Amino acid sequence: MSRLAVVTGGSRGIGRAVAQLLASRGCRVVVVSRDLEAGRAAVASLDGGDHVALSCDVGQEQEVKSTFEKIRKTYGKISYLVNSAGVNRDGLLLRQSSSVMRSLLEVNLLGSMLTCKAALPGLMHTPGAALLNIGSVVGVKGRAGQSVYSASKSGLEGFTRSLAKEVASRGVRVNMLVPGFIRTDMTAGLQEWSSLPPIPLGRVGEVEEVAQAALFLLLSPYVTGQTLLVDGGISLNM
Ligand code: NDP
Repeated sequence: MSRLAVVTGGSRGIGRAVAQLLASRGCRVVVVSRDLEAGRAAVASLDGGDHVALSCDVGQEQEVKSTFEKIRKTYGKISYLVNSAGVNRDGLLLRQSSSVMRSLLEVNLLGSMLTCKAALPGLMHTPGAALLNIGSVVGVKGRAGQSVYSASKSGLEGFTRSLAKEVASRGVRVNMLVPGFIRTDMTAGLQEWSSLPPIPLGRVGEVEEVAQAALFLLLSPYVTGQTLLVDGGISLNM
């Protein structure tokens, strides 16, 4: 029987590439995003025909609860949850409104906590189950103009390590993948690539390169509570 994987933010960018790789490895994939049409378009491009798109705002507790309840009842036990849903809004702290701060924390941090919480009861009864949170090199190293985004991602790192300790004895692994600068919609608006520190590998990353590392963490049976940077080495210069 194929494994069920839920990928939040699976309609675009990194999440979509992870969904594609998991589908190519025989998983049945549930793509979660707010925009259902985009989710459906992503699902239509996956290998195999049994995938599903669901609309859910991961920052909204009731939506998350009902979405995971529906997944459990309709599609069965989840083996893998990948939290790629995320938003970014650059701005110096002195110019950032509290509503923007809240929305960054609500999606990037609270959203991943809520989906992990909703998925865990089922994961605990699934051999080989794994959770994967997507952080950011900015959460590890910090960057001017991204203090709140950075806080949301470094908070997620502490959450990941602690949750790994909480659920290891129940057979669930929890890891964190930290991309550097990857070519997606999120970085399309970045005006100053040239202002970034030098990337030792000499180029920005591609989503497929992040997806490969995600697959490694999901499938590695003796790895938990770890943070893996997939950043072309940029963190060495930050
Ligand atoms: P994209 O902007 O390309 O895609 C974001 C995805 O998240 C979309 O599927 C979007 O769908 C979904 N999403 C956003 N908000 C919500 C929400 N409230 N509820 C459910 N889904 C939501 O981003 P990337 O692929 O570039 O980023 C993926 C992750 O990787 C993010 O967590 C990001 O912070 C992180 N990251 C990205 C880097 C990069 O260079 N691209 C670098 C470091 C980290 P919809 O809008 O329809 O909801």
